[in-house]
Amino acid sequence: MTGAATGRYDTVVIGGAAHGSSVAYWLSENPDYDGTVLVVEPDPTYEYASTTLSEASVRHQFSNPVNIALSQFATEFIAGFHDRVQVNGESPDLRFRDTGYLFLATETGMPTLRQNHEVQRSCGAEVVLLTPDELLLRFPYLNVDDLAGASLGLRHEGNIDAHSLLQGFCRRARHNGIEYLTDRVVGLRMHEDRVTDVELASGDVIGCKRVVNCAGPRARWIAEMAGLPLPVEPRVRSVFVFDCREQLKGDLLPLTIDPSGLHVRTDPPYYIAGMPPAHDCTVDPDDFRVRRDDWEDRIWPGLVHRIPQFERIAVTHTWAGHYAYNTLDQNAVVGPATAVPNFYFANGFSGHGLQQSPGVGRAISELVTYGEYRTLDLSDLGHDRIVRGEPFLERSII
Ligand SMILES: Cc1cc2nc3c(=O)[nH]c(=O)nc-3n(C[C@H](O)[C@H](O)[C@H](O)COP(=O)(O)OP(=O)(O)OC[C@H]3O[C@@H](n4cnc5c(N)ncnc54)[C@H](O)[C@@H]3O)c2cc1C
Repeated sequence: MTGAATGRYDTVVIGGAAHGSSVAYWLSENPDYDGTVLVVEPDPTYEYASTTLSEASVRHQFSNPVNIALSQFATEFIAGFHDRVQVNGESPDLRFRDTGYLFLATETGMPTLRQNHEVQRSCGAEVVLLTPDELLLRFPYLNVDDLAGASLGLRHEGNIDAHSLLQGFCRRARHNGIEYLTDRVVGLRMHEDRVTDVELASGDVIGCKRVVNCAGPRARWIAEMAGLPLPVEPRVRSVFVFDCREQLKGDLLPLTIDPSGLHVRTDPPYYIAGMPPAHDCTVDPDDFRVRRDDWEDRIWPGLVHRIPQFERIAVTHTWAGHYAYNTLDQNAVVGPATAVPNFYFANGFSGHGLQQSPGVGRAISELVTYGEYRTLDLSDLGHDRIVRGEPFLERSII
């Protein structure tokens, strides 16, 4: 992924991970889009991108119809992945594991769980509410003493391989003629209310008709280059992989969200757990230190409370990545800026952006090509709400 791009491109995509490559992929697949596309990405290894540091899970259990619809499209995309991204008959292996999500609730959490359940069912999600006794029948290793119920996804929820998703988008986009450039965007030149050029760290300047901001946790700084507000900041999330000597008897542990805020799922032969840090605040975008104290003080005790067999475990591997955390409402910001109509956002995905990348990339490609959404209407996620300071809340945030 190199190349000396010069001159002018119709669309410059800033950041080439899941969202940047999805936008490039969808533009390159659309016969009605007849422009050129350049993806500018400083790190072709994607070592520190949220995409490759993700837990890569997919769920239909959101509270908002638009988020449910985006994940339902992810399911469709995953099912057709090979055909959609194959190059000369080959495609990366997504390895989708259909293990479900399980949201646990105490008495206090039940009204929200029921409310979410109604919305999910009305959108066609295959979910079921379980009583504590029903929970025990499926997952006898759970401590249900303090629980009043749970919501379980029966189909289409689980996890994928994030690298493969990214590689699928990238390889096919490049095969279709999209250019990738290893460089970093350091400035945007403006004329009146439009971006005219993109300034790169190398000193090169690229002319453009439009830009798409796919810079993940660093998106706010790209928006600021165009004078646009974007309340998105890097927030660290530590991930702990552990081995449990004693096998849990019953159904495989789905991605289980505990009322305490911790989550844990099976990752055979291991388990993966995480939780927002005790002090959840903006961090330096280069700070990838694993918050180990959280494991000792909060995560492990919480795991043992919920699954007593987790008293005897050994941590085998850890890492930390960044959410691009939207402080207004933890929801994505998608679409053009009213104040700068040729600047498009695909930002602020917090902890659910990987599964939204197929749908958001397609949506941006429609906006760019037709000036309107043609499949999923993502207007609710538009930048106007940021300008107005009106949150579009998602109750089911992990
Ligand atoms: C620990 C963790 C667990 C997660 N779990 C899940 C999950 O289970 N399910 C889910 O759906 N989502 C999950 N997410 C969220 C998901 O990974 C992200 O929302 C998604 O990957 C965001 O993709 P992106 O392309 O927007 O950003 P990124 O992957 O961060 O990519 C941004 C890219 O922009 C580039 N860039 C930055 N600055 C510039 C610049 N100035 N010029 C050019 N390029 C630039 C970067 O190098 C980077 O490659 C998780 C995230 C983390 C950290």
